[in-house]
Amino acid sequence: MSELGNEESQETPFFKYHHLKAIQDHDSKYLGQASVAKSPSQGGSTKRDTLFFEEEEQELITQDRLPAIPLSAAVDDTPANMKTAYKDEAITAELRELYNTFQKCLDLREKYMMKSKQRFEDNPKNRDSWEIYPPPPPPSWPLPPPEEIASRKKKEKEREADPIAAVGIDFHREHIKIPGEHPYTFGVGTDGFYHVFKSEEDKANREPAYIVPQCKEFYDDLDYILTAVSDGPAKSFAFRRLRYLDSKWQMYILLNEFEEIADSKRVPHRDFYNVRKVDTHVHHSSCMNQKHLLRFIKSKMKKSPRDVVIYRDNDHLTLAAVFKSLNLTAYDLSIDTLDMHAHKDSFHRFDKFNLKYNPIGESRLREIFMKTDNYIDGRYLAEITKEVVSDLESSKYQMCEYRVSIYGRSINEWDKLAKWVVNNKLFSPNVRWLVQVPRLYNVYKSTGLVDNFGDIIKNLFEPLFEVTKNPESHPELYIFLLRVVGFDSVDDESKVERRSYREFPLPRDWNTASNPPYSYYLYYIYSNLASLNSWREERGFNTFVLRPHCGEAGDTDHLAAAFLTSQGISHGILLRKVPALQYLFYLAQIGIAMSPLSNNALFLTYERNPLPQFFQRGLNISISTDDPLQFHFTREPLIEEYSVAAQIWKLSATDMCELARNSVLQCGWEDKIKRHWIGANYNKSGVDGNDMSKTNVPNIRIDYRYETLLEELNALRRYAPKDQGGDGVALEDMTQRDMVGVAGLTEGPRLQQNMIHTIQHEPASHNESNTFEQQPHWHDSRRDSFPGVAVVAERARQRRLSQISANSK
Ligand SMILES: [Zn+2]
Repeated sequence: MSELGNEESQETPFFKYHHLKAIQDHDSKYLGQASVAKSPSQGGSTKRDTLFFEEEEQELITQDRLPAIPLSAAVDDTPANMKTAYKDEAITAELRELYNTFQKCLDLREKYMMKSKQRFEDNPKNRDSWEIYPPPPPPSWPLPPPEEIASRKKKEKEREADPIAAVGIDFHREHIKIPGEHPYTFGVGTDGFYHVFKSEEDKANREPAYIVPQCKEFYDDLDYILTAVSDGPAKSFAFRRLRYLDSKWQMYILLNEFEEIADSKRVPHRDFYNVRKVDTHVHHSSCMNQKHLLRFIKSKMKKSPRDVVIYRDNDHLTLAAVFKSLNLTAYDLSIDTLDMHAHKDSFHRFDKFNLKYNPIGESRLREIFMKTDNYIDGRYLAEITKEVVSDLESSKYQMCEYRVSIYGRSINEWDKLAKWVVNNKLFSPNVRWLVQVPRLYNVYKSTGLVDNFGDIIKNLFEPLFEVTKNPESHPELYIFLLRVVGFDSVDDESKVERRSYREFPLPRDWNTASNPPYSYYLYYIYSNLASLNSWREERGFNTFVLRPHCGEAGDTDHLAAAFLTSQGISHGILLRKVPALQYLFYLAQIGIAMSPLSNNALFLTYERNPLPQFFQRGLNISISTDDPLQFHFTREPLIEEYSVAAQIWKLSATDMCELARNSVLQCGWEDKIKRHWIGANYNKSGVDGNDMSKTNVPNIRIDYRYETLLEELNALRRYAPKDQGGDGVALEDMTQRDMVGVAGLTEGPRLQQNMIHTIQHEPASHNESNTFEQQPHWHDSRRDSFPGVAVVAERARQRRLSQISANSK
C-alpha cells in the first residue's frame, strides 16, 4: 500500500459518526427503508439544519452514485446459484486487492506469534506430559469409590473450619524438583534485546540461537498495518463486512432463539452458574471489594495494633501509631472515608483514578496494606489475598488471573515477588498470575533510579534469562513462573505520545527525560519475550504470552502494535472506531477481555460500550472486572459484571455461557484443565470442539460462529492472487456474498473532492469529544467520506504504474 499518495497514508483509521450515517443513509436508499437518521425526534439540531442536510444529501445521491459504475450488490436480482452477474474489471480488481491486504495483515500476525512461541501448541504446559503441582481438585463426577468420597468429605470439613488456612495447604516446596543448568548462554545483542546463544563462541560471533524480528522490521510491519487500516476503501469495505455480520446475527437469532433455549434446557445439571468463568483481567492489588478491605483494616487495628508496619523518617511505626498520626480510630472508618471507589470524578481522569488506590487518600496505608514489598514483606496483602482466594475456591466455578507488577526499577523485584508468593503459599487451583509492566520510564529517570531504557529491560528480563539457564540460581522464581501465564503492559493510554525520532534509538541510548511510546514498550517486551520463550520451550519450561492493556484510549497504533505482537488484549473499546482493525481482530479471533463497568467509570459510558455489538459480530470477547476494589459492590465481582451486562443488554443464557466459554479459551490455564472445564476436544473447531454438557452453549450457536468465520476467511484466501498462495478465482466465480462491501468502493467523486478539501484545511481530530456525541453539521458529514470511483480508477492506475516500474528494474 506504500504506493499510495501522502494524503491517504496520513488519513485517520477512525470511523466517525458521519461515516456511519452516510452508509446507513446510502443503504436505506437502496433498501427502500425510511432513513433512521432523520427522524424528527432525534437530536437537538435545529430544523433548518436538518432540512438542509436532507436536501443536500438528496442532491449528492442523485448526482454522484448513478452514472459512473453500475452498482449491483444490493439491487441485483438474485441468480439461483448465488453467482453474480456483475463483472466490472476495476471494481473486482479493487476487491481482490482489499481481500489480499487483509490476508497479508493476518499473515504478518502469524509470523509474530510463531516467532515468539505464543501459539497454543508451542507451550509445553499444554502437552499431556505436563505435570501440574499442586494438582487441581479431582473431578466430582463420575462418583469416586466410597472411601475416596469419605476422605474428600473430611478434607472439605477441614477447609470449612478454617478456609483461609486451607489456601495453598497442599503446596509443599520440597516436592518441586528444580532442574539443573543448561549449556546455552545469553546476553543483550547489538539490537538492544536479549539473545540466546548455543555457546560462548556463538556469542562472540553474534550468532543467536533464535531469530526474532528486528525493531525496524516491526515498525515497517506496523506501518503496513496502519496504512492498510487507514485506507479509505478498506475502511468502508470492512465496515460493510461488519454490518453484514450484524445482519447475519439478527437473522440467526430470529430463526434460532427458540431452538437455543430448548437445547439449553435439554442439558442436565449445567446452567450459567456452574459453567466455568475466568476473570481474564483483574489487578491483584484491587482484587478485594471495599467492604472486604475495610473489614480487614479494622480487624488489624483491633487485633494487632502493636505490629511494627512501616519505617519512615528514621522511625519504626506501629499500626496504632500510624492511625494515630492520621487522627483515625477503627470506629471512624467507613467506605466513605476509605474513598477508593471510582465515582464521577474519575471519568477521563486516569490520574485521579490512580490516586484511588490509596486508602483514605493516604499512600502510607497503600504501602502497608497493598504492597508485596514493604516493611512487613507484604504479610497483610498475602493474608487478604488468601481471604479472597478462599472465597473463589468455595465458589468453585470462578477463576482469576491476577496481574501483579514488576516495575523494572531494580534487579531484585522478581526475587522479592516470587518469594512473597512461594513463602506465603499463594497457590490455588483457581488462580494464575500475569505480570504487568507499568510504562513509567520517565518517572524512574526523573528520580534517578535508571539511566536509560536499557536499564529497565535489564531489570525486567535478566533474572528471567538467568532462571531459565539455571533454575537453581533463583529457585523461588522458578516455582513462581510455573504459575505465570503472561505479560501485560499497563498505564494511562490517553497520555500524549511525542514522536521525537524518525528512527527510534536503541534502549541503552534512550536516555532523554521523555517516555518511549506505547509501540516501543510493546516491541521490547515482545522481542525479549520471543528469545526467552524459544529457550524455555526448548528446555520444556512453560512459555508466556503477551496480553497488554490496549485500546482503552489513545492512538490506533496501540491496537495495531498489539495486533502484531500480542496473543490477546484487555479493553479494546477503541476498535469501535477502527472498522478495518476490528475486522482483523475478528478474523484472527484475538481474545479481548472487556470490562464495561470499568470503562463506565473511566472512559466510556455503559450504554455506549461496544461489547454487545462486538459479541454479536463474533469477536472473541470475554467479560472481566479490572478493579473490583474501585468498581464493584459485591463479594462476587465477576458475577456482578455479568449480571449488569445481562440486564442492560438483555443477554440470553446462551450469550452468557458463550462469554464464559470464551473466557476459558482466552485464559492461560493448562490444556489438561481446560479439557476438564469445557470438554476434551475443545481445541477442535466448530461443533466438534463443543461439549454442551460442560459449556451449556448449544451446538447451533457454535456452528453458526464457525461457519460465519470460515466464510469470511475463505473469501480472503480465495481472492488472494495465485502467486501469493491464494486461489485467485476467476471473475465469474464471484458470489454475491463476496460482493458485500463493494458498494463502499464506488461513492461519488464529489464526496471525495470535499474530503480532500476539508482534510487540507482542518485536519481530522481523533478526539473522543467531537466524534459520536455531537450531532453532525451538514458539512461535517461530508468530511472524511469515502473515496469515489475516481479514486478507485486512480489507485488501479497507480498500481499498474508501480508494477511496470518494478518489472523494468
Ligand atoms: Zn486493567
